[in-house]
Amino acid sequence: MQFIDLAKQQGLIKAALDDRIQTVLAHGKYIMGPEVKEMEALLAGYVGVKYCVSCSSGTDALLMPLMAWGVGPGDAIFTTPFTFIATAEVIQLLGATPIFVDIDPKTYNISPELLDKAINKVIEEGQLNPKAIIPVDLFGLPADYPAIETIARKYDIKLLEDAAQGFGGQINGQIAGSFGDAATTSFFPAKPLGCYGDGGAIFTNDEELYEKLVSIRVHGKGGDKYDNIRIGINGRMDTLQAAVILEKFTLFADEVKLRNKAATKYNSLLGETVVTPHVPEGYTSVWAQYSILAKDAEERQALQAKLKEAGIPSAVYYPIPLDQQTAFAHLGYKPGDFPVSAEMSQRIFSLPMHPYLEDADIETICGVIRG
Ligand SMILES: *Cc1c(COP(=O)(O)O)cnc(C)c1O
Repeated sequence: MQFIDLAKQQGLIKAALDDRIQTVLAHGKYIMGPEVKEMEALLAGYVGVKYCVSCSSGTDALLMPLMAWGVGPGDAIFTTPFTFIATAEVIQLLGATPIFVDIDPKTYNISPELLDKAINKVIEEGQLNPKAIIPVDLFGLPADYPAIETIARKYDIKLLEDAAQGFGGQINGQIAGSFGDAATTSFFPAKPLGCYGDGGAIFTNDEELYEKLVSIRVHGKGGDKYDNIRIGINGRMDTLQAAVILEKFTLFADEVKLRNKAATKYNSLLGETVVTPHVPEGYTSVWAQYSILAKDAEERQALQAKLKEAGIPSAVYYPIPLDQQTAFAHLGYKPGDFPVSAEMSQRIFSLPMHPYLEDADIETICGVIRG
């Protein structure tokens, strides 16, 4: 059994995908070719924002808006410690200070109450300038944007949605990738909408930000690429990868439904054995991961061993919260500073999840867990 089965998906679109790729090989515009613009227009329309700027990865998608906003030394950027390293890495890369804020024990997303307190504390201490919040749509569930947007407005700081896992999720019909001042996603192959390599995108309604992002993506270009008006990066997405996304997107709406169907089946079979994921009223998850809680680290280890014996892969996202990572040791956080994410890192694990998971597979997996 596969943790994520990309081959099945490819089988459904193989002929059209080959055509798309042949078209790129024929026109030869490998960098910023027509498929890139076509994909950006398609995805901006889907998310419901004015602008989409594609780029080289979900990591660069986070980096570029921070660069555009002039984030640097002395700035505090608030984020969750219970996420992939990239979310906080880009903050450090620019010399700013990541301020971690613990998560909600039910959704595993950044806690709005603790966020408000953390911003207040930084203001009171007067050492750093609160500049932006980066919530993460963990495992595919959008963060609590209604509350977080209110906080961002109250303190007049930027809000950047990390929808690398959340693209395709919703809150009351509003699609992930549309919250905050800007939102980002990743097209890494294992994400809900992935290409066949690295890629990412930034979404925004802000025209000034859009213009800067387009410049930063190509070495800070001005009127043309040999007129450089700021420091940028080589942040472009390949035309071939855009062609792959264009074809895969034809399946996406269906795949979101299929992922939800699989999650519902898991919930119904596991609800009495482990803690199953909580999706608040009005929210839709895109189920980048289906993650459950064991009682403790010991039970998790035993369950994962049983699954492995039965040929079923499982994974732990995330075994070490970012505040305890060596790369962030200089921030001086102590074990216990973020008790909820520390506890979840000991108890959580993820089961196979993809749109083409068969009911029989889910029954087998749940049978092993129920013992
Ligand atoms: C995958 C991921 C990223 C980074 O995306 P890449 O395309 O791999 O650079 C950023 N944030 C989160 C939450 C992710 O899951």
